[in-house]
Amino acid sequence: MRLFDTHFHLDLYPDPSMLVAQADQAQTYVVAVTNTPSVFESTQQLTSSSQFVRPALGLHPELAVERQLELPLFERLLPQTRYVGEVGLDFVTTDARDRAIQQEVFQKIIALCQASGDKILTVHSRRAEKEVIQAIGPEFAGQAILHWYSGPLSVARQAVENGLYFSLNPAMVRSKRFNELLAVIPRERLLLETDGPFVQIGSRPAVPQDTMIVIRALAASWHISEEQVAQTLFTNFRQLLTKE
Ligand code: MN
Repeated sequence: MRLFDTHFHLDLYPDPSMLVAQADQAQTYVVAVTNTPSVFESTQQLTSSSQFVRPALGLHPELAVERQLELPLFERLLPQTRYVGEVGLDFVTTDARDRAIQQEVFQKIIALCQASGDKILTVHSRRAEKEVIQAIGPEFAGQAILHWYSGPLSVARQAVENGLYFSLNPAMVRSKRFNELLAVIPRERLLLETDGPFVQIGSRPAVPQDTMIVIRALAASWHISEEQVAQTLFTNFRQLLTKE
């Protein structure tokens, strides 16, 4: 079965090289997101000989205030990768200044990606779903994936209209919202992720192969085989990669 993981924090595991080897062995495509531009190059080195693991350049919204000075580095590194993440907004903070800095950083990142044209973004949107969708806009030149979407269904519909993708992880499967979300998002816009190590399977951090849990849940929801689900989602992933 063809698995893939569009949002995995490879650099936060004690033995990332082993995980790269496992992904290669299993032929599982992995987007290795990073939370600050300063760790991009080490992730790039870790994945340089892999056929399946790709490094993504990120600046996590919860680190935007502390790391906004890394924006010039982000801009300098951007031509080296097609994948961007983790980026976005997190409005768990109610501090107006923090939110404004996050907005400024994210808007700058969107503008840079817009100028390059072919970037694939994996985007955090906790409690800022509307603002994230607004910042990306309906005419974004690349592709954007809303990772671990937990916002209102009405906003999810807007995201669908704007052409955005959604990646589902094993923690989302356990939530009551899972089936409501599936009712709103067309199948061809769904992708897989783990967000490991932030998502745990029992007491261990998730690994890319755990996307199988999502496939199993979708098969139960849609009353089709796991193989059919895996094929549908892999087709979505391939289309995302080949879109202009
Ligand atoms: Mn993450």
